[in-house]
Amino acid sequence: MVQFAQVIVDVPSLQTNRPYDYVIPAVWQAQLQPGMRVVVPFGKGQRQVQGFVVGTTAAPPDYNGELKTIAAVLDLQPVLNPELLALAKWLAQWTFAFQISCMQTMLPSVMKASYSKKVRLTGAATVATTAIFHDQTELDFADLAPEVIKQLLKWQQQHLVEVVYEVHDRAKVKTLKAVQPLLTAADYTAAAAKVPANAKRQHELLAFLAAHAAAKAPIPMHEITATTELTLAPVHAGVAKGWLRLVDLETYRDPYAELASAPRTQPLTLTAEQATAVQQITAAGEQKRDQVFLVEGVTGSGKTEIYLQAIQAAITAGRTALMLVPEIGLTPQMVARVRGRFGEHVAVLHSGLSTGERYDEWRRIERGEAQVVVGARSAIFAPLQHIGLIIMDEEHESSYKQDEMPRYHARDVALWRAKYHHCPVVLGSATPSLESRARAQKGVYQLIRLKERANHQPLPEVTVVDMKNELKKTKEDNFSSLLLQELRKRVLHQEQSVLMLNRRGFSSFVMCRDCGFVLQCPNCDISLTLHMDTHSMKCHYCGHEEAIPQVCPNCQSRKIRYYGTGTQKVETELHTLLPEARILRMDVDTTRRKGAHGKLLRQFGNHEADILLGTQMIAKGLDFPDVTLVGVLNADTALGLPDFRASERTFQLLTQVSGRAGRAEKKGEVIVQTYNPEHYAIRLARHHDYEGFYKREMTLRHQTGYPPYYYTILVTASHEEENEAAKKIFQLMTQIKPALSKQAILLGPTPRAIARVNKRYYYQMVIKYKREPHLQQVLTQIMQENQARHGIQISIDREPLSFI
Ligand code: ADP
Ligand code: ZN
Ligand code: ZN
Repeated sequence: MVQFAQVIVDVPSLQTNRPYDYVIPAVWQAQLQPGMRVVVPFGKGQRQVQGFVVGTTAAPPDYNGELKTIAAVLDLQPVLNPELLALAKWLAQWTFAFQISCMQTMLPSVMKASYSKKVRLTGAATVATTAIFHDQTELDFADLAPEVIKQLLKWQQQHLVEVVYEVHDRAKVKTLKAVQPLLTAADYTAAAAKVPANAKRQHELLAFLAAHAAAKAPIPMHEITATTELTLAPVHAGVAKGWLRLVDLETYRDPYAELASAPRTQPLTLTAEQATAVQQITAAGEQKRDQVFLVEGVTGSGKTEIYLQAIQAAITAGRTALMLVPEIGLTPQMVARVRGRFGEHVAVLHSGLSTGERYDEWRRIERGEAQVVVGARSAIFAPLQHIGLIIMDEEHESSYKQDEMPRYHARDVALWRAKYHHCPVVLGSATPSLESRARAQKGVYQLIRLKERANHQPLPEVTVVDMKNELKKTKEDNFSSLLLQELRKRVLHQEQSVLMLNRRGFSSFVMCRDCGFVLQCPNCDISLTLHMDTHSMKCHYCGHEEAIPQVCPNCQSRKIRYYGTGTQKVETELHTLLPEARILRMDVDTTRRKGAHGKLLRQFGNHEADILLGTQMIAKGLDFPDVTLVGVLNADTALGLPDFRASERTFQLLTQVSGRAGRAEKKGEVIVQTYNPEHYAIRLARHHDYEGFYKREMTLRHQTGYPPYYYTILVTASHEEENEAAKKIFQLMTQIKPALSKQAILLGPTPRAIARVNKRYYYQMVIKYKREPHLQQVLTQIMQENQARHGIQISIDREPLSFI
């Protein structure tokens, strides 16, 4: 008999990765399992905290104090299965995070917060259940006594009850009315004989019930009203006569409902390159090898079709598949393609869903009702079982790395889960990260290259325009004469264009023309960004917002000027230059509302506009056949950033956006405007030369000692007082340095590039290393010792994607 449980507690002030031992009260001993949540007393006094059970034992733990007892059980069944529990443990170590934050990251937010929880009867009512539920079908979990929970734990194992979360903002689990036939077909026919002939509706109802009695399943009311003349009134009469019962059927909120009715797509006949790729991946799947494939395929090479057919093979083999897409790339187009092939077997998870929608999708996965999961970063924790394939599309995307605790990269989690499930991983990109491409070079990953577009069309021709020359000709236009002329041509021929404004490393601000004053955030060392739609100035770091000043706060001059090129400004300019063009603008401002992104894309697809103007978010994944021109207004704003990945990011972005042109029969053309036409990232992107870029960039990284030649870890300390933050980082340095070998390189400590954010000062140092056996231990120790003490916060970021 198990009597003791090991519990990871949620104590924000004293974080710890160590489980604590508790006594399991006798009533729950038989049913309590790892992965369930409990309430336990913690510390001195009567403080009660939540925790996750991570183990149970019969033998008393090796502890000589007095053990406390679990106060309450919060789940009737584990919310984290053994795989996810093991994953949380590993993830905490790997990312220097707390196990509790890893566990919470894996669950839908509705299960973390104070949403109310109900126990619902799922089976037929019995004498025993009626004693607890009386005439209700739902109970409030919070009201239940331990004895009752004991009984419910048993029923849960027999699938008689379930726990559901009520999301107040978006109704609870959505239900619809349905008719449950109660008699046999013969009984209905007999009943019909006694009904007067002129009671037409009753006859119709009885005929309907007789026809559906054999199936025993409830029939949704909307199906009945759609196929018969029946309404709710005769159905209620039927209830009174004991012919049927009205029941509530659970439905899921379906965020992609309109896609569900679309006809299924059939697998395409693969090109030779695609076929080889699919064969290699499915062979690894059949042999249960956790092999990693890097699919390096030019834009339009048909990577998605490879994913779809590999997923099909996994499903046919009785396994499941997980497909990750970057948040920004999770366009309705991509969802439609996967849904179009696998229909209702697909669950979709991303941050655009409401809390309730996410929870519904999670439950469908957890119950095994969805075999294919498509989602953004956190979908990597989807509770799928028997995974047969994990895909990461656009694997180079930085949105796969979470920038708060746990600071994980979805790729690392994917590799861990693939090992656990013995299944292959597919990393796909036209421009793989240097880290992945280098691993393929060394044979750690299997490289699969697709050099041709699926339609055998050539890649679009790229023209680079040197804006330094353009500037002399015109004033401060965003448009070169060549780009303008080509845009005009497209409008005339009713072809479409995509225009991208690169906003990375770039923002609009307000400056006084008399004294040069720039409005700064009061909390952070950064200037405020101008937002025309809300007519306000905002801080992108802390959210601070204030009105656009009319007079300069410094010299009281009225000569305030707006600087920088926002999409809105470009749109206005374009309206003046090309009044005949219909323009759709897509940026954070126009896509904030739910569903707005998809709507804009639909409008563009329907030719309701000639030009789609947008930020980076238009660069990825879009597949519109009539786009023959892609323009990049400013290719190089990111090149000047103090980040060793600046060239890589620029090359990736240019390649991605160029790939939007000429995807069908019509030839595509790309015009790139830049002040650095000779920069190798721009030159090589012009020739679609990823391999050339890879070689060149690797040489540079080798010379400067950056990834993939070195691993990096970023250590940051912050405090409201600048000298406290500085003192701490130097103290950490003296702690870390002795643990390192001579091969390791310590950069810093230095103040962070934006030293103050949200009233806190940040100091950092970077450790570059190849093999450091003691590093993990010393960093783990630092995390344990330093949490939230004396107002100091410390973060440790393995392989940071941003150093500024
Ligand atoms: P990528 O993701 O590699 O950029 P996509 O998967 O979007 O490319 O494919 C580009 C286009 O080629 C899509 O319109 C797709 O339907 C089409 N396509 C892909 N594979 C085939 C094939 N085997 N036969 C015909 N068309 C294909
Ligand atoms: Zn001024
Ligand atoms: Zn701020």
